[in-house]
Amino acid sequence: MEVLRVLELYSGIGGMHYALKESGIPAQVVAAIDINTTANQIYKHNFPDTPIWNKTIEGITLEDFNKLSFDMIMMSPPCQPFTRLGLQGDISDPRTKSFLYILDLLPRLSKLPRYILLENVKGFESSSARECLVKTLMECGYDFQEFMLSPSSVGIPNSRLRYFLIGKISTEELSIQTSSMVPCTPPPFADSSVLTCTFPHPGQPAKEEHSSHVLYKRETPSDVQRKTNQNNDLSIKQIRDFLEPLVEENMERFLLSPKTLSRYGLLLDIVQPKSRRSVCFTKGYGRYVEGTGSVLQCCMETEMESVFTGLDQLSEQDKVDQLLKLKLRYFTPREVANLMGFPADFSFPQDVSVPQQYRVLGNSLNVVVVTRLLQLLLSEHFGHSAGEQLFASEGSVGSSLLSSRC
Ligand code: SAH
Repeated sequence: MEVLRVLELYSGIGGMHYALKESGIPAQVVAAIDINTTANQIYKHNFPDTPIWNKTIEGITLEDFNKLSFDMIMMSPPCQPFTRLGLQGDISDPRTKSFLYILDLLPRLSKLPRYILLENVKGFESSSARECLVKTLMECGYDFQEFMLSPSSVGIPNSRLRYFLIGKISTEELSIQTSSMVPCTPPPFADSSVLTCTFPHPGQPAKEEHSSHVLYKRETPSDVQRKTNQNNDLSIKQIRDFLEPLVEENMERFLLSPKTLSRYGLLLDIVQPKSRRSVCFTKGYGRYVEGTGSVLQCCMETEMESVFTGLDQLSEQDKVDQLLKLKLRYFTPREVANLMGFPADFSFPQDVSVPQQYRVLGNSLNVVVVTRLLQLLLSEHFGHSAGEQLFASEGSVGSSLLSSRC
């Protein structure tokens, strides 16, 4: 097989490059482009031989792109214009400009890349930017498949529901094959061109394990039910498989301070080594508490239930003393990287601080999910429902395959 020439746009710390490596596809990243100097430094540290262009994408000419003569584009355009919490500026947000520039450029390239892979946040699937993408791909003659996937669908105890599109330039043979693809269950989105499939579940059926019904913190009964279901899903590994062997003194710096416990104790998402779930780690992890990622309970002798029952009736000091018993700590950047599927040889340069490490990891992606997608894209299964076998999922999160033009 010839070596594919790959262009990695919005390359960050190289999550896409790791996925390409892990996929076993013979490939070479001919340029990685990003404006974040810290991310570029980390990328260079891990991939010293890959040319990194520290430039804004919209400042690169058609001619420069043509010179790279690439066969594949992998990209994660900025997601802020599409997030639920953002202003959802979509195509009017200045941060989408570079992506629209790529779409404008694509049909004008002297050679269309054979393959395209794009990652973005949940929210992108219903954006105008996605409509522009789909329109451009159709005009250029690509076949493509869209997915909403979370790492739990590849057995990793972490939620990170993301939109993915994989596209392949259409050949006559492929067009015939793809047009025969059978759609699955009805679409979950208003957009009727989007279809959903639920994947078969390879894991052993979960035993019902009824945990207590005490509502810890500010959880709703449905939160508790969802977490219980996730922890009972045996197709997903346990958190303990992703932890570093930490000696006591190294752990100290990751413990949550009494001040944080006092202010945010009721808002924490707490997991244990035996858990089979954790929430998405975002770039604010370690600095902000609410909604930025799970924390780990290190002291198993203390029952979480006994700490949280009646907690809000206690004085500030007693509340903190109770919470301290759990020995709650942040996951280390290495552990977050493990949960995001980064291989053991990924590392940070010495001078990159821990908050910087969390920040770039929070912007990155799950390597295992992208590895599977690349394998599907390059396989003969692309465009067929057989591709769904690559991902498994219980329930709704991460279980959907959106499919268009296939
Ligand atoms: N997939 C990457 C992360 C992508 S996050 C990883 O694995 O780490 C989006 C990235 O796009 C950020 O690193 C940001 O610096 C970069 N970016 C945003 N706008 C850009 C532009 N106009 N030109 C080049 N890079 C840009």
